[in-house]
Amino acid sequence: MLKSPTVAAALPTVKVSARGVSRLKSGHVWVYRSDINSDDSIPPGALVGVTDERGKFLGTALYSSASQIALRMLSPQPVTDLPALLRQRIEAAIAYRAQVISDTDAYRVIFSEGDFIPGLIVDRYNDILSLQVLTQAMDAEPVRQVLIQKLNEELKPAGIVERVEPRIRELEQLPPRTPGLLYGEKKDTVFTMNNVRFHYCGLEGQKTGAFLDQRENYAAAAQYAHGEALDVFCYQGGFALHLAGRCSTVTGVDSSRPALEMAEQNAALNGREIEWIEANAFDLLKDYAAARRQYDTIILDPPAFAKSKRTLETALRGYKELNLRSLKMLRPGGTLVTCSCSYHVSQADFLEILAEASRDVHRTIRILENRTQARDHPIVLTVPETAYLKCAIAHCK
Ligand code: SAH
Repeated sequence: MLKSPTVAAALPTVKVSARGVSRLKSGHVWVYRSDINSDDSIPPGALVGVTDERGKFLGTALYSSASQIALRMLSPQPVTDLPALLRQRIEAAIAYRAQVISDTDAYRVIFSEGDFIPGLIVDRYNDILSLQVLTQAMDAEPVRQVLIQKLNEELKPAGIVERVEPRIRELEQLPPRTPGLLYGEKKDTVFTMNNVRFHYCGLEGQKTGAFLDQRENYAAAAQYAHGEALDVFCYQGGFALHLAGRCSTVTGVDSSRPALEMAEQNAALNGREIEWIEANAFDLLKDYAAARRQYDTIILDPPAFAKSKRTLETALRGYKELNLRSLKMLRPGGTLVTCSCSYHVSQADFLEILAEASRDVHRTIRILENRTQARDHPIVLTVPETAYLKCAIAHCK
């Protein structure tokens, strides 16, 4: 990183409106397309200098020609050597993990803005790394080479697989890519978190193969879990497997058959007996509640219902229904572990929905823990989008 502004002046420059400037001053790192002077000459994914309307230098950013997020700030300083900066930030992200990780060989190594490398996600599953690029800048071949080389050097994986989300690539106007091995030969492994073992298949499954952001919540949920347990939206059994040692029976519910097949393999790997049911969770909870079924522990971990602000109302209704039916089925003294991974649903909204649901079914609940994503998904306080997961653990009277 060179400090001389004259060198940085060689970069293309993007001017930011007063509104964009105030957003940056608040500590955010995104500038929306409507807040920049559009300039078609800037190549997709370019490193750019950023100034206010009068030309005052504000920092260096990565540019996207397609996304509504036109700029992602990298530094308030001039940056000319992007590879050197990336290498340094990868080292810092790994050093941060050394402070916050224990009881696991699977964790997020790089969380995009949360690790000051916007557009890059890297997860570690034991000896395999999974890499996902989300922006034009991170998809550029020279940048990819730097990332792969540095990750290899630092973490010495047996394989690096690429995870591809076609929708994100389309939004960034990137050509389609097939998921595959970027390095090494290994793409399947077994990883261990909180003493529970899981299969990892590099090129299958949703997200990067497991929901690493719930790792600390799995351990917390297991502390309070007891009796008969129902894990709704169980995917490959993350919560269910953690409850199996604590509860007399565990049932996992999901609408995805492949997810349940993997869940069953995970149960076998841990020598656990778990019942898996393929069903629509809304229908199943409705039927079970009507049939007056009862449980001592219920987990709710649905997919993000609110993908945008527009769908917030519908999402809140969905969350309320799930929580209401679950509270109905909890025995006195029961535990509800209820999650939302929708960024657009704030923690306050979420707790309000839970309060409403409890009032409607005349059950009093007390919050045992108000939790969020695991610490390997760092939350940058001035970038609210880095905080998305809510996980409330409640005692039901
Ligand atoms: N609790 C899981 C992660 C859940 S992800 C873990 O810790 O690993 C959300 C899951 O909800 C996915 O597995 C998806 O298949 C499932 N799902 C989505 N809509 C559903 C529905 N209507 N009924 C049941 N499952 C659903």
